Amino acid sequence: MVRIARQLAAGLLVAGLAAAAFAQAAKTEVLWLAQAAFRITSPGGKVIVIDPWLRTNPKTPEAWKKLEAFGKVDALLVTHGHFDHVADAPALALMYDTPIRAPGGLNQSLDTLGVLPAKLLPRMDKGGTVEAAPGIRIAAVHAEHSSLYVWQNPATGKNETHVGGEPIGWIIELENGFRTYHAGDTAVFGDMKYIGERYKPDLALVPIGGNFTMDPADAAYAVKELIRPKAVIPIHYGVNPLAKGTAKEFVDAMGSSGIRVIVAEPGVPLLF
Ligand SMILES: [Zn+2]
Repeated sequence: MVRIARQLAAGLLVAGLAAAAFAQAAKTEVLWLAQAAFRITSPGGKVIVIDPWLRTNPKTPEAWKKLEAFGKVDALLVTHGHFDHVADAPALALMYDTPIRAPGGLNQSLDTLGVLPAKLLPRMDKGGTVEAAPGIRIAAVHAEHSSLYVWQNPATGKNETHVGGEPIGWIIELENGFRTYHAGDTAVFGDMKYIGERYKPDLALVPIGGNFTMDPADAAYAVKELIRPKAVIPIHYGVNPLAKGTAKEFVDAMGSSGIRVIVAEPGVPLLF
């Protein structure tokens, strides 16, 4: 009996240690869904979705074109009004009753046009930090790009171009302090140095396709000389034929910088 009790106690101890190790090992899961779309799952289980263009994105894995696959969305972030960033955000907002965090001018257009009810369109802009969900802090930062919202008027069947606010990037800080900088669509700009110094991102998600955004050489300069994150994932390439930049060109341009370069595959989760 004593021996069995000892074995039981030892077993419980091992199970307890395993549970503690698991708790310590709770990680951030970063899932690229092609172009600029991401699902980030925090160590506390919060789901953050950024720039969801999914259902008509040719590079998004089939499983993630079904918006039900997300299960829940605790924070929904959009960088600007172009279709390949905002596309499925209104549908996700309605499905999960999650407000869209986006440039103030874009949310105003979504409100005025009746795309979503005002309660799903909180107003914010660049500057300061906002708690988008318990433990999830976000800040909107500058991006050097444009932002317009094209909307099909159901009364006329014609497309109209509306205000999209100023384009932004997002700083996303999780419960454990892990910080991601999603640069949105952007050219290089000098204040990326400020963003790097101010927020010290663990991970930067930077566009490399060129034509509309930084190309691989621009992005490598921005990452090495200005942002200086611990790790970087190249995004916004391989979909639009005008955005010709490749991951290989970016990796080559990064050289041996000491910054970890991760070439992500759409639909393959990465742990940090
Ligand atoms: Zn854009």
